[in-house]
Amino acid sequence: MTAIVVSIGDELVLGQTVDTNSAWLSRRLAEIGVDVIEHATVADDQLGIERALRDVAARCDVALVSGGLGPTADDLTRQALASLMQVPLELNEAWFGEMHAFFARLGRTMVESNRIQAMIPRGAEMIWNTCGTAAGMAVRIGRCRMFVMPGVPKEMKAMFESRVRGELGDAAGGSVILSRTLHTFGLGESNVGERLGDLMDRRRNPSVGTTVSAGVVSIRINARYAGIDEARRQIEATDELCRQRLGALVYGIDEQTLPQVVLGLLKERSAAAGRGLTVATAESCTGGLIAKYLTDVPGSSAFFRQGWVVYSNDTKTQLVGVPAAMLREHGAVSEPVVRCMATNAMLMSEADFALAVSGIAGPDGGTADKPVGTVWIALAGDEPAGVTARRFVFVGDREMIRDRAAKMALTMLRYRLLGAEMPF
Ligand code: AMP
Ligand code: MG
Repeated sequence: MTAIVVSIGDELVLGQTVDTNSAWLSRRLAEIGVDVIEHATVADDQLGIERALRDVAARCDVALVSGGLGPTADDLTRQALASLMQVPLELNEAWFGEMHAFFARLGRTMVESNRIQAMIPRGAEMIWNTCGTAAGMAVRIGRCRMFVMPGVPKEMKAMFESRVRGELGDAAGGSVILSRTLHTFGLGESNVGERLGDLMDRRRNPSVGTTVSAGVVSIRINARYAGIDEARRQIEATDELCRQRLGALVYGIDEQTLPQVVLGLLKERSAAAGRGLTVATAESCTGGLIAKYLTDVPGSSAFFRQGWVVYSNDTKTQLVGVPAAMLREHGAVSEPVVRCMATNAMLMSEADFALAVSGIAGPDGGTADKPVGTVWIALAGDEPAGVTARRFVFVGDREMIRDRAAKMALTMLRYRLLGAEMPF
């Protein structure tokens, strides 16, 4: 069963609003085994909408349309649909009564222009809206089953779940697509791809593919099977195979973030140690980004103790005790300096671990032996590992270098908490 997702609205084609409806709908359709073959985005123009719907209806089994069902003059989807069907718009009394009740519950009176939201093309089936005033519509145009829903994401989602998913799930024959994404940080996409090897064969089911976003290389597993239980089992099996080849490189799945995972490990270690373990930071080139990433996570107050942003040489000396002579001799971006920053941050804050970063984020300040992107990261922590320091050269602009440095620092802490060696 093939589908086209159509989004309607001037704000979408003008790029003022990002079309999140299509992405959401496509993921839902994949879950029930419907093949989305196209996304179409159309401006609020009646003729344009009519033309698009006619074209779409001729090319797929099911069309999911959202937008243009508001009460104002620029909302023209229902008019376009009526014109395409060559029928008049008619007031749906049941929905009109419901709208009155809806406004009464809010303590407001309904204005005349809202009446249009209860109008649907003659012969169309009305779809109940559980969280708004625009009725949805289900029609058949030739071979195509078409569902028309409001553009407001919350209303569209509620309508899809309550009315559309069931019908399409039955019609699609119960085949499902389940997805899982594994996240890694530290190795490039090609390297991850090589480790995955034949798992990435295009004909494989579940399929395995990689994507990169903000330095995070993710492995997408898509399983297509007749039943949900089989799809779940197959996802698990492929997940296991990917981990066999990638080892500890996989830090989390789906919505999990690196800072969440690091704090989760600290929590586990704390439980094992019988006391709360904490982390502190002393940051130069990342300007507090590591502290920000850690404190983005709810509940981080139990584990994040303190952070210093020591951007200048004299604050590195005054606040985290880096000897001025060490800075003069080795420069701020050097192994002895980050080791000293990490050690002192840990001792001064009485944290169990401390991360320290010093580097050249650019675009200026690079030299032949310390090019832009050079970053020293140190981790101070419990014995036997004690203090470890590593030099990295990150590529990209200032924002990318800072982001990758912060993520790498978190990755060093993650491997330390796992008791594993970093594979890069
Ligand atoms: P409408 O049904 O055209 O009145 O849409 C109402 C509101 O929903 C718009 O003003 C947008 O803010 C939002 N909206 C409409 N279509 C989309 C879409 N495809 N993705 C995300 N938001 C949307
Ligand atoms: Mg609109």
